[in-house]
Amino acid sequence: MRIILLGPPGAGKGTQAKRLMDAEGIPQISTGDILRKAVADQTPLGREAKSVMDSGGLVPDQVVIGLIRERLGQSDAVKGFILDGFPRTVPQAEALDGLLVDLKRPLSAVAAIDVEPSELVRRLSGRRVCQACQAAYHVEFNPPKREGVCDRCGGALIQRDDDKEATIRRRLEVYREQTEPLIAYYKGKGLARLVNGIGNVDEISGRLREALAGA
Ligand code: ADP
Ligand code: ADP
Ligand code: ZN
Repeated sequence: MRIILLGPPGAGKGTQAKRLMDAEGIPQISTGDILRKAVADQTPLGREAKSVMDSGGLVPDQVVIGLIRERLGQSDAVKGFILDGFPRTVPQAEALDGLLVDLKRPLSAVAAIDVEPSELVRRLSGRRVCQACQAAYHVEFNPPKREGVCDRCGGALIQRDDDKEATIRRRLEVYREQTEPLIAYYKGKGLARLVNGIGNVDEISGRLREALAGA
């Protein structure tokens, strides 16, 4: 299974990608996670990316395309992958098409998760993420068993720097302008499967499973 989870910030892509990864035994590839690790490690890439990420903008296409090229070349991606947060622009989608042609590993499907903006703001403003494994929780909708501690790995939960109201608004705008057109792009290729993202985490997992059946 080689799939893309597409959807606005806060739609539940990361949450569902982790579940699919555990169920299918294929890696979740999140450009956001890769970039945040580079920021934490203070690599040259991380230093370049931090201010863009904090402002809610997008890291340059060539930078993330390079990261994806390298990541898809690793051995665990041979059996399949779940792309989460990439592609985010039409040039990124076109570059991905080229990469997958070279690798002779075409996409199976693109699941587009739909959630309205007011709900996205609620989800993002209450989000907490594990510093160690990046699993996402929500203070109200999806709390961990022990406050401040990751259920999966025992890591510490923190609030992301970009999960602040003003930055959230900017990220939603950037999504509408630059990423939403990808739904039409993948519809044109017959790959898009639309998933209603309103409901609890288990319900969305069920809908995704149905949408991806046979993919
Ligand atoms: P979310 O899923 O909550 O929107 P991500 O973790 O996917 O957040 O991304 C966080 C930030 O990292 C983005 O706002 C952007 O600055 C940067 N980023 C992640 N993926 C990409 C990408 N494919 N292209 C450009 N920038 C990206
Ligand atoms: P994305 O990767 O698309 O930005 P996340 O998976 O990080 O989204 O989820 C965003 C926030 O919403 C997190 O706080 C998460 O716990 C919460 N969340 C995820 N799925 C649901 C859901 N179905 N209902 C309510 N909250 C959810
Ligand atoms: Zn964890």
